[in-house]
Amino acid sequence: MKFRVALAFAWSIFVLEANAGKIALVNGTLINPGTSQIVQKATVVIDGERVAAAGDAKAISTPKDARVIDCKGEFILPGYIDTHVHFFQSGDLYTRPDVVDLTSVRPYPEEVGWIKRNLSDTFERYLRSGITSVVDVGGPFWNFEVRKVANATAKAPRVAVAGPLISSVARPQLDLGDPPIVKIDSVGQAREFVRKLAAEKPDLVKIWYIVDKDHPVDSFRPIVRATMEESHTRKIRVAVHATELETARAAVEEGADVLVHSVIDKPVDDAFVKLLKDRHIILCPTLVVFERYGRTFANKLNLTPEEKAWGNPEVIATLDVTKIPQDKLPDRIKKALGESGATLDRITKIHDVALKNLKTLEDAGITIAAGTDAGNIGTIHGPALFREFQLMQEAGLTPMQIVQCTTANAAKLFGGETGAHIGKIERGYFADLVILRSNPLDNIKNASDLDTVIKNGVVYPVGELAAGSR
Ligand SMILES: [Zn+2]
Repeated sequence: MKFRVALAFAWSIFVLEANAGKIALVNGTLINPGTSQIVQKATVVIDGERVAAAGDAKAISTPKDARVIDCKGEFILPGYIDTHVHFFQSGDLYTRPDVVDLTSVRPYPEEVGWIKRNLSDTFERYLRSGITSVVDVGGPFWNFEVRKVANATAKAPRVAVAGPLISSVARPQLDLGDPPIVKIDSVGQAREFVRKLAAEKPDLVKIWYIVDKDHPVDSFRPIVRATMEESHTRKIRVAVHATELETARAAVEEGADVLVHSVIDKPVDDAFVKLLKDRHIILCPTLVVFERYGRTFANKLNLTPEEKAWGNPEVIATLDVTKIPQDKLPDRIKKALGESGATLDRITKIHDVALKNLKTLEDAGITIAAGTDAGNIGTIHGPALFREFQLMQEAGLTPMQIVQCTTANAAKLFGGETGAHIGKIERGYFADLVILRSNPLDNIKNASDLDTVIKNGVVYPVGELAAGSR
């Protein structure tokens, strides 16, 4: 009896492994944005965690032992990559006490506790949104633990991380002993901090190049330079937050590899475009985050249906500022509520510049990687990417260009060995892909019409993921 149970068990394991082993997706339309290639009646063979073959069904035979999934009428793309998220932020109203202090409503340690407890839920919402890899562009040292946990979790995106931001300004409100933003005052400090970061093997070093009248571009520039030198000596790439043209130019001149956010103060000029092109810079525009702080504070939040359905409902519930008692409302929110028209005008002005700049850079052949800055107030982990796609479309990018930004281009920003094996559906690449019910090339809104998400060769009908049934 015992033996029979053991045998049955062994058999079931064998069957499971055989199922997980080979999968053939047949009859679908394969879209490989990296090459702009579209294959009707395609076959994709997955063997374990990797793609074994992909292309025209005539050229690829379906292995006899494969589990066959019929994708007739459907569209197969590489899994999406959001190249700008922050896991130390929840996206709720309490997540940036340095911007709006609501610690009398929810103390910051409670907020961070909530974030840590809900990490696996956050991971799963990324998968539900078809996002199979993300880049965390800065947070506390516990970010490195987040990467480790995510990369050991099936229902999680692959995660690349930067550690704490090397910053020109201090943010003491976020310091609970392991601050996400560290003010660096000297070249020596910068070098020492990069060495400390390097011990954790970051995928990127991030500089927060914040400029205002008290912090001019040139005063922080030697620190930027030292950070670049120290990082590049260790073969670590550097990403720079720079939203003004002259700050971004200085960052690239000093050796930045990645620019995060758009230039929002003026149109980019030819010299700047040429500089980005010559230096092979990757730029991540994060258009959505520019609207979300202001819209949240002005009670004009424009969450998409995807965000409402797949975002964390607890996070979304906090974003109604009218529920905060009047005496606890920070001035910044009171002001935005009082002048909501002016707040929306400011957002429109920023978007006018940023969207035009995106189109200029895309037309010039600069590598653009899609990213949201999810985790910031009102920018929802996971589905915020679909709002980013809308804004990229408004900027004039074609659906093919947009899916290229979130797959092949984004993989370059992700970097490393993993980055070299994601973002495309080709032999040897990780089997991270999405199956859509409608064609994203007809309309980018179809990019969220998800049927199935496959990550690391494991098939998830979306209904089985967090918020899948809603
Ligand atoms: Zn960010």
